[in-house]
Amino acid sequence: MKHRAASPDRPASGSQEAYLTSAQAYALISSPTGISMMTGVFHFMAISLGLIFVTRKVGPRWSAVNQQPRRRHRPPRTAGGLLVTCAVLAASTNLGVSAETADARFKALVFSKTTGFRHDSIQQGIDAIAKLGAEHRFAADSTEDAARFSDEILARYKVVVFLNTTGDVLDASEKAAFERFIRSGGGFAGIHSASDTEYQWPWYGRLVGAYFASHPAVQRAMIRMANANHPSTKSLPTSWERTDEWYNFRSRPRGKVQVLAVLEESSYSGGTMGADHPIAWCQQIDRGRSWYTAMGHTAESYAEPLFLLHLLGGIESAAGFATGCGENSP
Ligand SMILES: [Zn+2]
Repeated sequence: MKHRAASPDRPASGSQEAYLTSAQAYALISSPTGISMMTGVFHFMAISLGLIFVTRKVGPRWSAVNQQPRRRHRPPRTAGGLLVTCAVLAASTNLGVSAETADARFKALVFSKTTGFRHDSIQQGIDAIAKLGAEHRFAADSTEDAARFSDEILARYKVVVFLNTTGDVLDASEKAAFERFIRSGGGFAGIHSASDTEYQWPWYGRLVGAYFASHPAVQRAMIRMANANHPSTKSLPTSWERTDEWYNFRSRPRGKVQVLAVLEESSYSGGTMGADHPIAWCQQIDRGRSWYTAMGHTAESYAEPLFLLHLLGGIESAAGFATGCGENSP
């Protein structure tokens, strides 16, 4: 379900995206608690299946003792193999939370906690980043548990991805740990409503580059590459037309960041930034790296090959595993 979109002549009121109570069911099943519950159910099913096959394996001996009609013996190897299958099934239910690759170059933490509007596309985003990791050799752990923002846990990662976060998501000690992470050379990749997050945290405002202000309805628009040499833009057409929810921002990030792509406001209705409407950018911040794209509202985005290349380049560069942002533009 799409969230409420203001018409072009009536921009979304307030500074945050609309709340939607019908998203609560989705929020429940996609929350860490929900995932844990579902994982538990799968584990229970796997163990039950395993017990069934153990029972079947020893069943005939029991039947003989009790003079029951014998069943044909199944080769023990079959039962063992199915037990292995069950174990694999049980393990695979954890993939949404922790996607490991044997030869991972680096680890990314994908954070999607929301305290405001919740995008229906979050799960597609998590899945897409995990798949990118499997294909391009990085591990992606996904979480909505802000308690993972500690020095000890963040030290495991090269980049933290804020995937459609909204509202205030970190407490004071978690914010301090994240600032230390970036200042010690960590990376930040913000996707779409990462700019609709933590309005009262000035350091985060600098990190993300600009805060969300409003958006018109989802529609097609033309994006022009402002820097076609960055890993997140080098695979994209110079003029790239696609459908998304196009953000207007409270301030102009140019001058503080290196603008990578801009929106052609004449190609859609509802833009309020004028001729200079950045839509993706990057920056060096302290010793760390920041990359942000305002794209990624729709679930369909995460199945678009070009958008996935945009994300891949952003995550890799923020992690320090692709060409960086270089010097900020004047
Ligand atoms: Zn959105």
